[in-house]
Amino acid sequence: MNATQEATSTISRLPIDSPSLLNPLIDRIALAAPDTDQEGAFPEDAFRWMAEAGLLAITLPGHDLDFRSGQTARLLHLLKRIGSANLVVGRVYEGHINALYLIHLFATPDQRIRWYTDVIQHHRLFSVWNTQADNGVQIEGVNTPAGSTTYRLSGAKTFCSGAGWIQRPLITGELQTRDQQGEQRRGWQMTIVPTEQVSPIAQNNQFWQPLGMRASASLKLDFTGIEVSDADLLGQPNDYYRQPYFSGGAIRFAAVQLGGAEAMYTATRQFLTMLKRTDDLFQQTRLAEMAFLLESGNQWLEAAGNNTDRWLAEGADWTKIVAYANMTRTAIEEICLRVMPLAERCVGARGLLRPHPFERIHRDLTHYLRQPAPDATLVDIGKFVLTNPQPADELWR
Ligand SMILES: Cc1cc2nc3c(=O)[nH]c(=O)nc-3n(C[C@H](O)[C@H](O)[C@H](O)COP(=O)(O)OP(=O)(O)OC[C@H]3O[C@@H](n4cnc5c(N)ncnc54)[C@H](O)[C@@H]3O)c2cc1C
Repeated sequence: MNATQEATSTISRLPIDSPSLLNPLIDRIALAAPDTDQEGAFPEDAFRWMAEAGLLAITLPGHDLDFRSGQTARLLHLLKRIGSANLVVGRVYEGHINALYLIHLFATPDQRIRWYTDVIQHHRLFSVWNTQADNGVQIEGVNTPAGSTTYRLSGAKTFCSGAGWIQRPLITGELQTRDQQGEQRRGWQMTIVPTEQVSPIAQNNQFWQPLGMRASASLKLDFTGIEVSDADLLGQPNDYYRQPYFSGGAIRFAAVQLGGAEAMYTATRQFLTMLKRTDDLFQQTRLAEMAFLLESGNQWLEAAGNNTDRWLAEGADWTKIVAYANMTRTAIEEICLRVMPLAERCVGARGLLRPHPFERIHRDLTHYLRQPAPDATLVDIGKFVLTNPQPADELWR
């Protein structure tokens, strides 16, 4: 068996559509969530269970949600379910899936074999670390007399979720290099750092003193002094920003967020049942509102997944795919922001005390709802609908 066959032959054992198989894993992750709710912790056990269940490899060739087979709605459902168990696990898992998607889109065949093998055989975790503040990452190419190029990294990334627990972080930086013929290459370059093969990456733990999502360990990391090779660079400069993939990916974090709102709803029901308060009309109407908000979120995800697959297959205008993704993330943010106060009112002050899960989920969801450029996202939706003259009924067909 060659490396490609080996990397793609392990068909995932978990049919994720089967609640009888997925739900016990979700329950197990949810039960463990309070144990890692602190800075400096990371939900390692959850990722081991997910690896054993085949979830790290679920989108790879031949697996249940193979990216090539257009299964986005099912992927979003899975992300939502993981988010409902623990938003931290959902956040880190989404980063892993995002990195694998970028590999699917932009890697060479040799790179795919290498990185897919990392996932399947070694259960290595991937992530995407793009965010930076001042002193962002620079990638300088240095040609060697032997004809190869070494790439020297300098500068730092912020919000590196999973920090030291991620073995294959995909990071971005400003590339400046000349090839052996003297041709200049510049732009926003992706590189996947093989962490065990490079010098230690300096961590700034002080950066991560968050409201919520403590165990996501989204530290500031300094890559100065790290060296990578040509084989570690993914795609061409600026591929990272290729649309609709860049903005369209927002539907994945929206799915995880909706999972947080779903967890609020489930916990609220259980709490009211425990207190025998389910006959109260006010509680019933609040639960009703939460239920229809969640279901509208589910419908957004289903439509976003199916539309994305269909429009990509049809080669539709990418601005339409991005506009729909923007609407999905904005609508789901609104849904989550409405579900949280409804849950608070249902359970009252008593419910917001530990060991009840509300205050943790509330902190985690409040923090995780803060995603890049929410204002610009709304403006972009407005621009799209104003520059597309179709009647409202036909806009998204
Ligand atoms: C738990 C968690 C984990 C994360 N993990 C990762 C990760 O693994 N990898 C990664 O790359 N990133 C990660 N991030 C970062 C994330 O993707 C976003 O970049 C980040 O949350 C956005 O930060 P912000 O809200 O401070 O952004 P800001 O851009 O500062 O936005 C804050 C507000 O200011 C507005 N605003 C933005 N620009 C301007 C402007 N020029 N003038 C006026 N107003 C403006 C925005 O619309 C918004 O209302 C993570 C974030 C969180 C919370």
